[in-house]
Amino acid sequence: MTSTDSIRVISHWIDGAERPSSSGRTAPVFNPATGAVQAEVALADQAEIDAAIGSAQRGFEVWSGYSIAKRQAVVFAFRELLNARKTELAAIITAEHGKVISDAMGEIARGQEVVELACGFPALIKGAYSENVSTGIDVYSLKQPLGVVGVISPFNFPAMVPMWFFAIALAAGNAVVLKPSEKDPSAALWLAALWSEAGLPDGAFTVLQGDKEAVDGLLHSPVVQSISFVGSTPIAQYIYETAAKTGKRVQALGGAKNHMLVLPDADLDLVADQAVNAGYGAAGERCMAISVVLAVEPVADELIGKIAERIAKLRIGNGADAVEPDLGPLITGAHRDKVASYVDIAEADGATIVVDGRGCRVEGHEDGFFFGPTLLDHVPTTSRAYTEEIFGPVLSVVRIASFADGVELINSGQFGNGTAIFTNDGGAARRFQNEIQVGMIGINVPIPVPVAYHSFGGWKASLFGDAKAYGTHGFDFFTREKAITARWIDPATRGHSSHTGINLGFPQHD
Ligand code: NAD
Repeated sequence: MTSTDSIRVISHWIDGAERPSSSGRTAPVFNPATGAVQAEVALADQAEIDAAIGSAQRGFEVWSGYSIAKRQAVVFAFRELLNARKTELAAIITAEHGKVISDAMGEIARGQEVVELACGFPALIKGAYSENVSTGIDVYSLKQPLGVVGVISPFNFPAMVPMWFFAIALAAGNAVVLKPSEKDPSAALWLAALWSEAGLPDGAFTVLQGDKEAVDGLLHSPVVQSISFVGSTPIAQYIYETAAKTGKRVQALGGAKNHMLVLPDADLDLVADQAVNAGYGAAGERCMAISVVLAVEPVADELIGKIAERIAKLRIGNGADAVEPDLGPLITGAHRDKVASYVDIAEADGATIVVDGRGCRVEGHEDGFFFGPTLLDHVPTTSRAYTEEIFGPVLSVVRIASFADGVELINSGQFGNGTAIFTNDGGAARRFQNEIQVGMIGINVPIPVPVAYHSFGGWKASLFGDAKAYGTHGFDFFTREKAITARWIDPATRGHSSHTGINLGFPQHD
């Protein structure tokens, strides 16, 4: 028996049930802590893409016909089930992604926030009514669902990122086709089963496993009305351009390179704690991770000493271990090698390696995709290790002379996702928030992911499109407005109204 004969194949969720694939194409799903292939994921072909979209179309017809009260009951039920059973989901995330269980629980909590916001959707998708705008004429607007909407998610948040979109999309009456990352595809299936249990009609939530072929199938389908994408910048740009060309509504969130600006008056112990949390948490595989510390001199030496002290205490290991480590492995061996190559580049470009995570080995997990926390100093801002996203546990320190140098460096980068300033000077913080060309800003807060009722999204190459994720942007994105102008004749005057005669002029008010 070959390994593929015996291995589990993770497949689609279509028509309210798991649907085996017959495409004949699969990709390996690793356990990143052991390096072993633990399953294969189906990669959809055109027939499966059509089946998923067709099912979603039928699901939409049923779901969008539910009353608001009935829809709300389903969203509430989903929230209750999720809250009761989230440890199951966390274990699935850790087994395929590698992040430690407490971090997986944190991801679920931030996604659940959006589900909780979505529970209050009736107040957020109410239309508006203006009475007697002209004599006897009323105008009102309705917010209606788009239809079938596509969500394409990255590997690093297999539960939270889908929840950013599907909770609001479904609450607003749409049907969702989710194309998860092929690297950790199981969380999506668990969420789909939970929706069914919560009472969502079959087809309203569909999971299509796959790669570029599945993504292109969604982009080119005339049934799919919108695309919400999160992933790397080159793919985000491709998604934005292709979806716009096919006339879809599109939001495409891309990569990041987030800087922490440290002014000399900052509390350096607080800064060191936060730099380590935000730089190495989830092994740096967060789009809001801090990857550059801009240290306004003379603080760099002292700050680097404090960060290095803290790194020495970090425990690296299998995220599923009973005694939880601080950080787990990277997603694949290929990604670990890419992260290592950026450290090589920094070194070749003249950076000092203060702490070197290359060659990290975890006892008992020698084949796992581990990479140790790495600290680089004197990183040249011309180096690709500075200009490009690394997406691993690598923190670069750049020494600068002033606040203004920091603002200029941040604003000259290609990305604009998140940034943070650490200072006790309120005036400097206020200037920073005004001048910085970034979508999400932390003031003495290193990972400023907005709560669910504010929207999430960056600027520049970190977001293509006009709508951010969740919050009011989410409700606007997943609804389409219709304005109605109506004249109803008062029964008392019916049959007696004086005719105004034919008038081909532009309508005027009276
Ligand atoms: P990725 O771009 O490789 O993949 C994202 C999705 O696109 C996956 O579902 C994948 O199957 C699909 N995809 C990959 N290549 C494709 C292609 N050629 N054509 C069509 N579809 C394709 O990203 P990833 O490695 O899964 O995730 C990490 C990236 O996501 C990082 O760059 C990170 O910064 C970014 N990210 C951004 C945010 C944000 O909010 N801005 C949040 C999380 C992750």
